[in-house]
Amino acid sequence: MPAPTPRIEIDLPKIEANTRTIVAMCRRAGVTDVIGVTKGTLAHPGVARAMLAGGATGLADARLLNLARLREAGFTAPLTLLRLPSLSQVDEVVRLADRSLNSEPETLRALSRVAVAAGRTHGVTLMVELGDRREGMPPEEVVEAARLVAGLPGLELVGVGTNLTCYGAVIPSPANVGRLVELAETVRREVGRPVPVVSGGNSSSLKLVMDGKLPRGVTELRIGDAVMRGHETSYGELIAGTTDETFTVVAEVVEVREKPSLPEGEMGHDAFWNVPTFVDRGVRRRAILALGRQDVAPENLAPLDQGMIVLGASSDHLLVDVSDAARPVRLGDEVRFRPSYAGILQAMTSPYVHQLVLGDNGVHAKSAGGASK
Ligand SMILES: *Cc1c(COP(=O)(O)O)cnc(C)c1O
Repeated sequence: MPAPTPRIEIDLPKIEANTRTIVAMCRRAGVTDVIGVTKGTLAHPGVARAMLAGGATGLADARLLNLARLREAGFTAPLTLLRLPSLSQVDEVVRLADRSLNSEPETLRALSRVAVAAGRTHGVTLMVELGDRREGMPPEEVVEAARLVAGLPGLELVGVGTNLTCYGAVIPSPANVGRLVELAETVRREVGRPVPVVSGGNSSSLKLVMDGKLPRGVTELRIGDAVMRGHETSYGELIAGTTDETFTVVAEVVEVREKPSLPEGEMGHDAFWNVPTFVDRGVRRRAILALGRQDVAPENLAPLDQGMIVLGASSDHLLVDVSDAARPVRLGDEVRFRPSYAGILQAMTSPYVHQLVLGDNGVHAKSAGGASK
């Protein structure tokens, strides 16, 4: 029986190979730890396993539910919570994560209380805001926050970190990442703690690594997109030795007909209350695929067939112009697409999209991790 559609195919050996290439490149730049970020696949255990097999020394996710999924799958590698902990969830944070990224003193005090009550030590990375204007404290507050963590029972000051190219689209540079390295030095000097981890960002920092410009002293990068799709994310450059042929979205043709490219009749709004515009290309051959916005937004899909044009989608129907397609497209055919990062996230989140895992060697999480706490 053929695999069900719509589906997302996940090529684990390619994700593992991407991770291996990126880990080797990072090691040459002095980065000892590449943390595999799993949120793009909702912490799919196969993907997490591939990241660890490729040399990631820990796993990280933005959501507690995803960390719980990793715990249940038996992973023993250190788990980091990426999103700042919610005050209302500090219990679960301490239970599920070995470490979290933090910027709020009040949250740190709450984590300390819970960690003490649970008899655990919770690792803290202090996030510094270096221009992207998302999470983090201003550099001037880091020493004081480090003193606070050093004095709170149940907490361990693991390091300092920053996040760039997420909200403000700010590109990591020797200057802003260098500032983080200097801050770690300042904390070591003034607070007298080792601060072993300098967490220098996400997949966008890999551009600095590729160019040999990552400041020395960065020990860790938190990488999701780049191991999943083989690109750094400052400029979208393919990383040498990696591939983007890791995830494929496949949908089935449920209608193929010639239709005028312009609608006919009085026009209001479409299914999502937008007022659309159209280009008159005359009568065109169009395929309707059984895939919609409830699965993946059409702008996040690139057809693998030459000459196909994604026209748009409603909740359940994807319209593709196949007039110039390099192969004839028939009813019942499968059409394949490369999803963007957002496309992967959406397809993995839709309960209607079947997940077909390629190359899973079935090795249990417990024996694949290597890293220990
Ligand atoms: C999502 C996230 C990452 C990983 O980003 P990628 O671009 O997928 O590598 C790293 N750090 C934080 C704080 C994140 O939220």
